[in-house]
Amino acid sequence: MSGRERLLQWLDSERDRQLDFLRAFTRIDTCNPPGDTTEAADLFRAFLDQEGIAHRTEAPQAQTPNLIATFAGSGNGRHLVLNGHLDVFPVGDRSAWSRDPWSGDIADGRVHGRGTVDMKCGTSALLFVYAYLHRLRAELPGRVTLTVVSDEETGGRWGSAWLVENCAKEVLGDCVLNSEPSGLETVRFGEKSMLWLRFRIAVPGGHSAYPHTGGSANKVAAALIGELLAIEAMAPEEPETVRRTLDRVDVQEASERSLGAGAAKVMRRISVNIGVMQGGVKINMLPAECMLEVDFRLPVGISRASVLEAVAAIVARYPMVSFEELLPGGPEANWSDPTHEMVGHLVRHAGAALGQTPQPIVSLGGTDTRLWRVKGVPAFVYGCSPAGMGAADESVSIAEFHHVLRVHALAAWDYLIAGR
Ligand SMILES: [Zn+2]
Repeated sequence: MSGRERLLQWLDSERDRQLDFLRAFTRIDTCNPPGDTTEAADLFRAFLDQEGIAHRTEAPQAQTPNLIATFAGSGNGRHLVLNGHLDVFPVGDRSAWSRDPWSGDIADGRVHGRGTVDMKCGTSALLFVYAYLHRLRAELPGRVTLTVVSDEETGGRWGSAWLVENCAKEVLGDCVLNSEPSGLETVRFGEKSMLWLRFRIAVPGGHSAYPHTGGSANKVAAALIGELLAIEAMAPEEPETVRRTLDRVDVQEASERSLGAGAAKVMRRISVNIGVMQGGVKINMLPAECMLEVDFRLPVGISRASVLEAVAAIVARYPMVSFEELLPGGPEANWSDPTHEMVGHLVRHAGAALGQTPQPIVSLGGTDTRLWRVKGVPAFVYGCSPAGMGAADESVSIAEFHHVLRVHALAAWDYLIAGR
């Protein structure tokens, strides 16, 4: 039997084992914050030990261990990196859940529990992909590295960001596969970035019967908000290959199906959310202070600097307004070549199983793939449906779990073999 045939056989014959692992992982509380993932890391290490796979732990903090496993194949070739995270969103309002958030119960063809969608499904899938490729290492050229990280939900500082900075030689590689929830209809080759600004408006204030004396910080805020919202009209300078990809009607349709009506536009424009607005203390007082926190989401082709420049030009006309950047130094909107060979492998295998070809799009939210992209390593995301992610009664389709595992396994195989 050829290596590929054996791979296909394991994908099918070990479905129960794959599912059991996902359920066991789901039963472990890894919510972040607080982000203690030691028990989940133990589960992954036990699996790797059972498979006879060498691994090591990089733990810049004891409670947030990151696992690295890497093997060299039978000859020179490409270095493929698999990346997933252990931590999940907090449970939120426990009373909104109809079952234990850590149950791992199966009902209606789904595994139930917090983090099943984001991304216990995907990280479990990549663990099995790695194990199967490892079994076939005598037939595979190149190298495969598995990275299972502990801090994604609070920014990645102790997770992928730490690995990329401190273990670059091992974890950068030639291409990255990530299995965050993308929806089966799309492959994510890029993502928008966020820019968070806080504005403070200060005027003398006073009694509302004497508006001529002190001015109103809230009135200034209203005018300022109008001007900030107008930044949404800023046109991105999309790189040619991105523009050509996103202009395609089938890509736009797939993004709307996957992300909701209007998504195709949102993907390529700035969105401005006035998330927090606090001003005034009493109905008959002129508010002396108002504070705004504004979340800008930047598409590919609009830099943080250009938005900051536009904001500074507006604020220059309002001497009573000051602003600061929250989380300065954050990432730019980022992308990998949508015509990269790996996109072809993912699309082909997913399409063959679904009878419908997924389309390459830019993600509205963020993933750890940005950390590789900024280092020049192409990174792509394909995973289960994002529906229910972070909500009460989160659950993942078992069929989608097996599908995602299969697509990544076959795409990884083809990518490695083609690099011989
Ligand atoms: Zn995630």
